[in-house]
Amino acid sequence: PENAPVAIIGLGPMGQSMTRALLAAGHPVTVWNRTARRADGVIADGATLASTPVEAVEVGELVILSLTDYQVMYDVLGGATGSLAGRTLVNLSSDTPDRTREAASWAAGHCADFLVGGVMVPAPMIGTGSARVHYSGPREVLARHQRTLALLGEPNYLGEAPGLAQMMYQAELAVFLTALSGLMHATAMLGSAGLNAKEALSELLSFTDAIGAIVRAGEDVPGAALDAGAHPGEPSTVTMMGATADHIVETSASVGLDLALPRAVQSHYGRAIDAGRGGDNWTRIIDVMRRRG
Ligand code: NDP
Repeated sequence: PENAPVAIIGLGPMGQSMTRALLAAGHPVTVWNRTARRADGVIADGATLASTPVEAVEVGELVILSLTDYQVMYDVLGGATGSLAGRTLVNLSSDTPDRTREAASWAAGHCADFLVGGVMVPAPMIGTGSARVHYSGPREVLARHQRTLALLGEPNYLGEAPGLAQMMYQAELAVFLTALSGLMHATAMLGSAGLNAKEALSELLSFTDAIGAIVRAGEDVPGAALDAGAHPGEPSTVTMMGATADHIVETSASVGLDLALPRAVQSHYGRAIDAGRGGDNWTRIIDVMRRRG
């Protein structure tokens, strides 16, 4: 229903942003946080503070959780399980797909609907046009709350299996975090040659488009060849990229940098070459990933 009351449990930067987005759209929002004074800001903006998790859960059907991880949900709601029947829990906390599956069963055991969400933007972007949230779980449950949840960010529904949203979240962050480490490694490389971080990052960031270009290389639909098990060699073979990976390790060693990151990359190409795949396209390194090292 329009302007239905919503409970938000967890008032880190994310929970506070979500509370403000819902208040701004006219929803009554009741909040609970372990550290009560963290609610001061959103109370000033119109939220109501619950004195216990039970009190928050009981304000309405929709209960949004924004906590450090899934264990905290059990810590917080462990004493409120008697109030969960008929509610919809939307857990927007980060954790593993396995833990989200367990949580969906736990919620079902208490007769609550459960949606898993992965928020793909930093807290200040919640409620803006560029916010995106991955969801998995029962489609009709998302449909029922779509209007309200869309106030946080555009919902991207991935499917019924509870772990999906969390897997997508972790996959995107895997790209993000390795790219961030790559950027800091490269900034350190350039620092050894006398460039400051400002100069290094302006150069390096303008180069990141090259990642899309090489992944698309010659394909209308990126990934189509990979899905067909094809790794056509030209123009970026495993051997060519492997030689580049060797040079990154050597260059990093020559200026005394930590080698963990470039050596990990080098090993992907090295193992594909050892498997006789040097002439294949660089995408062949996916076999190394799938083999669990
Ligand atoms: P935090 O990770 O700082 O979340 C902390 C929240 O969890 C606080 O409400 C904290 O309460 C509560 N908490 C932690 N441990 C316990 C406990 N044992 N018992 C009760 N409450 C506990 O906040 P964020 O808002 O940054 O993140 C929330 C979720 O959103 C995380 O899973 C994060 O990965 C995800 N996320 C965050 C983004 C961001 O920009 N911040 C971006 C994308 C996703 P207290 O205040 O009392 O410590």
